[in-house]
Amino acid sequence: MASPSISIVCPCYNEQDVLPAFTAKITEILSQTDFTYELVFVNDGSKDNTLALLAEMANKNSHIRVVNLSRNFGKEAALTAGLDHASGDAIIPIDADLQDPPELILDFIREWKKGFDVVVAKRIDRSSDTWAKKITANLFYKFHNKIANVEIPDNVGDFRLITRKVVNAIQLLPENQRFMKGIFSWVGFRTSVVEYVRQPRAAGETSFNGWRLWNFALEGITSFSTAPLRIWLYLGVFFSSIAFIYGCVIVFKTLIFGIDLPGYASMLTAILFFGGIQLIGMGVMGEYIGRLYMESKKRPVYITDDTAPKPKEKPE
Ligand code: UDP
Ligand code: MG
Repeated sequence: MASPSISIVCPCYNEQDVLPAFTAKITEILSQTDFTYELVFVNDGSKDNTLALLAEMANKNSHIRVVNLSRNFGKEAALTAGLDHASGDAIIPIDADLQDPPELILDFIREWKKGFDVVVAKRIDRSSDTWAKKITANLFYKFHNKIANVEIPDNVGDFRLITRKVVNAIQLLPENQRFMKGIFSWVGFRTSVVEYVRQPRAAGETSFNGWRLWNFALEGITSFSTAPLRIWLYLGVFFSSIAFIYGCVIVFKTLIFGIDLPGYASMLTAILFFGGIQLIGMGVMGEYIGRLYMESKKRPVYITDDTAPKPKEKPE
């Protein structure tokens, strides 16, 4: 098969229930265009039958290519693997669960033809998400964009079209901890936005629970900002100035009014308060040091296991 013009990149973790419907839908949409295409599925160490199902689908359908990771590396790594293996001129990362409507791909292509290198999909309605996810997502975007030196557009996920040029740029970023939303924004390029309504999952269940999302948010913030480190300098200056002024007040009071027995409660409160503040500061530093440590190992982002079925070399 000649190099396809469009590569769909789909990370899959335990998606056996939804894959047939997803593949049918995406094929229906892509066959409405006159582009050649490939579907790159990345099996991210699924514990169900996803891999066997993908292998079977790849045997029947020459558009399908399967990249099999040796274990579960997480969505960001799976997406990176997919981008590395995609060969199209335009690459479209998409979730397997049909929460990203494949119809939108036609809009992506329209914008791509206008000359945009990045076409992002912006959710205008998140009513399919729980209120907790809506609030926390909103807070995350606000906080991140305040302190990070690269802005992530509100309510924009990984579902987008990027051209080969953009993928090449992304591949220049050697970092091991890959917060893809940030990386996509960091590389820049001419961007167009199309809007859509986020659907509920077609089948199966989300693998992002509260704790995983919290860690994901930490990853995002620490990957693209050092503000949480710098703030301790200012907090330190602030509190030591107050301590100095308070110290002067005590000295003068003692000189003028004689020795006073200070309260036990106020002293303990101050000790606990500053102890707590210092621990938080150390915790933040620890967060960055941990990430430095992980980066310094220079481990690959993912490992593939090539017992995965090879694409069939059958002419169309
Ligand atoms: N996914 C993955 N590896 C993981 C977790 C998720 O490849 O460790 C894939 C998953 O199969 C899906 C996409 O990432 O295609 C989004 O996951 P999910 O729908 O669970 O997340 P949500 O939509 O709830 O944020
Ligand atoms: Mg989902």
